[in-house]
This record gives sequence, structure tokens and C-alpha cells, in this order.
Amino acid sequence: MSTVKTPSRQQDQGSPYDSLLARFNAAADIINLEDRYRQIISVPEKIISVNLPIKLDNGKVKVYQGYRVIHSTVLGPSKGGIRYARFVNEEEVKALAGWMTLKCAIVGLPYGGGKGGIIVDPSHRSEDELERLTRAYTRALKDVFGENSDIPAPDMGTSGREMAWIFHEYSRTFGHEPGVVTGKPLNLGGSKGRVAATGRGVMITALCAIEKMGLDPKKLSCAVQGFGNVGSWAARLLSQKGLKIVAISDVSGAYYNHDGLDVEAAISYAERNKGTLAGYSGGTKITNEALLELDVDVLVPAALEDQITDQNAANIKAKLIVEGANGPCSSSADKILDAKGIMIVPDILANAGGVTVSYLEWVQNRRGHYYTEEEINEKTDPVLTTAFEDVFNTHKEYNCSMRLAAYIVGIKRVANGIKMEGFY
Ligand code: NAD
Repeated sequence: MSTVKTPSRQQDQGSPYDSLLARFNAAADIINLEDRYRQIISVPEKIISVNLPIKLDNGKVKVYQGYRVIHSTVLGPSKGGIRYARFVNEEEVKALAGWMTLKCAIVGLPYGGGKGGIIVDPSHRSEDELERLTRAYTRALKDVFGENSDIPAPDMGTSGREMAWIFHEYSRTFGHEPGVVTGKPLNLGGSKGRVAATGRGVMITALCAIEKMGLDPKKLSCAVQGFGNVGSWAARLLSQKGLKIVAISDVSGAYYNHDGLDVEAAISYAERNKGTLAGYSGGTKITNEALLELDVDVLVPAALEDQITDQNAANIKAKLIVEGANGPCSSSADKILDAKGIMIVPDILANAGGVTVSYLEWVQNRRGHYYTEEEINEKTDPVLTTAFEDVFNTHKEYNCSMRLAAYIVGIKRVANGIKMEGFY
């Protein structure tokens, strides 16, 4: 989790949910999805909005608004993270929840999709205030959360710390139930490998794409936007596989070195510097906008939504984009990127490593038996390579982009679940 202030994302035409729907409808058209499934999957099952009065450290009271969106429970309990950021809004949480449904279906997990968020800038609140806020959010949603109903996890602005508070607050009412939330600290029933999991999934799916493209990872340069949980682990693991990381960035700006950056040194620097790269001297300072347009082979956007839009898509030079973040390319950019022949590993595939290890955490909690990190990686890596193959084969079968192929795989599995349940 980054402790630095996050600015609002680039204001694009339309919300992230509009982007989701545009792709959903395009994929549904390709497979001639029956109208009943189209209607059901294109809207969330439930939207919950809560107002949370919190006593601040200065004695004043402030009411924070939070959301939990349950997009789908067709394939299992809804699963998805909780985001703390000042730009959170209902449309964004709806999109994030919908992407979770498709993501879990693509990697074949027995989960539906959900997501939560609170409109708060965590860098402006003390640890005590964040604890009170997290506990209030948990109390407000105690009848929604549950290891068989809705299972939260970390997302932007939250980490194991907040998951521990959720677990404890929930347990005060319902007793010890560690499977109610994943991404917990290790000593509270968390899983080995969870912190690295999303970045590791980015690395695994990037290598799958590089192989399909007939390229040698050791000859490729790479830029990574965002240096929080996902970006820093993706940069570390990709550099271990031989890619030259020439640019990294966070909210403080971007840092570029044509000869390659020392990723481990950058991670240590950020750890010593309250999670931020501000003042980092290992590279020349450039803007986040310039990072996206660098002449690199691989681009990993791992920060916010809507970073690549129809405004800058024509300037992207990377051959391969691996979406560590959720929704970093808006739907308005799709046609431009496709026309340039850029291979995209879409978010709902590229960042599915996190939820896959979250699933293994939930399994371990329910069994009371814990795996080593090697066992976690041995179980997770094939899930991601199989999901990549499924999406790649669908992309060939329908002659469509990898993104639409990923939507097709996810939609077909959810629609099939609805069909088998047969309620309608
Ligand atoms: P984080 O809070 O740990 O890190 C976010 C990073 O983005 C920080 O380095 C921050 O400084 C940077 N950032 C913020 N605004 C920026 C800007 N305008 N330009 C450049 N950098 C900026 O969050 P995270 O958990 O790494 O999540 C990043 C993305 O990955 C989000 O889209 C999230 O939904 C997605 N994701 C996370 C996980 C997970 O397991 N954490 C799983 C799947 C998807």
C-alpha cells in the first residue's frame, strides 16, 4: 500500500462502468449472447451505500461514504477488494465488481464478483482514524460479508493492516471466521505468497504473451507505471526474468534510465521513504504521461484506471501492454491500440494472480492447513497459464482482440452457470 496522496485519475469520456459495458456488449455481440444473459450480467445484483460517522483525532465528527457492490454470485460467493481513495465513486466500484466476476470466471475460481470502496484519502488520516473507519465499514456490512457470501480483500489504499481490522471486527459478532476476508497478515491466517501474487501474475502472463510473440524476454525493455503492491512486485519479478526495467513511477512522478534501473534499490528506497519514490535519484525524472509513451517493448500500467485513452493511445510505442491495474486503458483507446497491432494482456487476466492466491488463502483458512510459498506458486502458476491459453485460443477462434477474448471466456462461463441453475 502506498502512503502517498493519489490524485484523481485522468477524466476520460465516460465512467469505468461505461468502458466495461462497451466491451461487454462487443463481446456479447460476437458470441450472440442470448438477451436473458445479457440483461442479467450487465447489471450488478446489489449496490450498498453506507454513511459512516467517524470521530476524528481532533474530536470533530466526519461522515464518510462507502460502497459495496455485489456484481454476481452465480459461480460462488462474491469476491473483491476494498479501495480507499478520494476519487472512489459508485460507478467505479460497479465496474471493479463486474471485472471481478469476469476475472474469477476466467481463472476458474468458485467465486462471483464484488468490490468495495470508501471515499477517503488515506494519506490524510491517522492510523487510528483509518482503524475506526474500517471497523465502522465492517459493522455496516457485517450482514453482507461472510466466508460463504461476500469476501473482501485489499485493493488500492488498503493492505493486510485493514484486513486484520475487518477480520477482528467481524469476529467480535460472528466468532473466529478467518475465511471472511483475504489478504490478511501471515500470523492471522494470511497466505504465503499473497503480497507478491498480483505482480507475480503480471509476470507469468507477460511471459506467456512474450512467448506467443516469439520474443526473447532478455532482449526487452519495460516501463512500469505505479510502484505500489502490484507495480513494485511486477517490476521486481520481470527484472528477475531478464527484462530491462527502464522506467518506474508513482504519484510523485516517473524515473527513467535508458540503461535500466536497479529495481531492488528503488524498492528499498521507497520502503525507507514512506512508500514513495519522491526524491529517487536512480533515474531522470519524467512525467507519468511521458512514461506511458516511452519507446519500450513492454508497458505495465499498474496504478489507476483510464491512463491510456483516445487522447494518448496513438502515441503508445510498446508492442505489449500488460494491465496490472484494473481498467488502465479506457474503451475509447481499444480501437487505436488494436489498429497499431499492440498485444494487450487485459486486466481481468493479467492481474488475476491476486484473487487466485486469495482463493488459496480462503481454502487454507477453511481447512486449517497451510501451504509453503513454493506450494502456493506451484498451484497458482498453472492456473494463470491455463487461463492465458484459454483467452489466447478464444482470441484466435473469434479473430478478436485479447481483451474481447477475455470477456468472451468470462461471459460464457457465467452465462453457463445461470443456464445450469435454471431459475429463470
Ligand atoms: P497501491 O495503493 O499499493 O499502489 C498504487 C500505486 O499507484 C502507488 O505507487 C501510487 O503512488 C501510484 N499512483 C497513484 N496515482 C498515480 C498516478 N497518477 N500516476 C502514477 N502512479 C500513481 O495499489 P495496488 O494494490 O498496487 O493497486 C494498483 C492497481 O492494481 C489498482 O488498479 C488495483 O485495483 C489493481 N489490482 C490490485 C490488486 C492487489 O492485489 N493489490 C489485485 C488486482 C488488481
